Amino acid sequence: MGKEPRTELPVKDRSERDLADRILRERMEQISHKLLVLSGKGGVGKSTVAANLATALAGAGKRVGLLDVDVHGPSIPKLMGLDGLPALGDDEVLHPVKSVKGVKVMSIGFLLPREDTPVVWRGPRKYHLIRQFLQQVDWGELDFLVIDAPPGTGDEPLAVAELVRPRVLAVLVTTPQDLAVADVRRSVNFCNEVNLPIIGILENMSGLACPACGHRIELFKSGGGEKLAKATGLRFLGSIPIDPKIVDCGDSGTPFAADPATSPTAKAFARAIEPILAVDAQPDVHTVSRPVRKRKAL
Ligand code: ADP
Repeated sequence: MGKEPRTELPVKDRSERDLADRILRERMEQISHKLLVLSGKGGVGKSTVAANLATALAGAGKRVGLLDVDVHGPSIPKLMGLDGLPALGDDEVLHPVKSVKGVKVMSIGFLLPREDTPVVWRGPRKYHLIRQFLQQVDWGELDFLVIDAPPGTGDEPLAVAELVRPRVLAVLVTTPQDLAVADVRRSVNFCNEVNLPIIGILENMSGLACPACGHRIELFKSGGGEKLAKATGLRFLGSIPIDPKIVDCGDSGTPFAADPATSPTAKAFARAIEPILAVDAQPDVHTVSRPVRKRKAL
């Protein structure tokens, strides 16, 4: 008989790890689609888009969860108007907090003693927390789990890409100006490197209609997101204009998309979720886009 192969973990730890892996797999199998909302830089409205996508999907009759993995800057509880504590159930299962539209929400923001408490953690601790949020939260059966990641290509999106099986689809958010688009190109390449299929690019803060005369002002230019989508072969999910109502909604914790309004901004959100709602019928979302290199035209 040959020797037992050497393992890094003692047998007890290995069986615990196997059990944890099984629980994570079973939890993820109950969720039909996982969407990771990514942006190349901060302040482009990524969390606002994540909160509104989740709310709009729930408004379309879907069972939706919203997981905030922005460990250092969790803004989802505020954007969703939630300050409850997730209840701890049997077997140390955490019950998510429900929004008015029935979105099941989990964020480290719920667990901090105060809103301004900083989280000073390095990568492995963040990875562990994200794993717990995926594994130990009672998500139940969901059609969509929307995951809001911090800007950039750091530990948090990487942890999601590794832990969420069989696949997670990326939604890339950018503002139209060259600087933001250059950063989101990095996100496209990140997705390619870690084999994350991209469902599309959404351009936020795209033009402002002057409230006095209706004239459109291109505050951050326009069209950058669409150009990048064309250059990479990715789907363009549309443009969300700058709308002061979005700021009010964010500050008051009532997601904009909770109101079935007919403003151009509401219509833009509704259009953006169409390809997401149709994800089962669109095999092409599985394709990974072409890698992008710096190009002057973008
Ligand atoms: P990020 O997650 O990318 O850092 P946030 O979602 O926190 O960005 O948004 C930053 C700020 O921009 C918030 O005050 C939010 O209300 C505002 N904002 C986001 N999208 C829009 C928009 N389309 N129109 C107006 N304000 C917006």
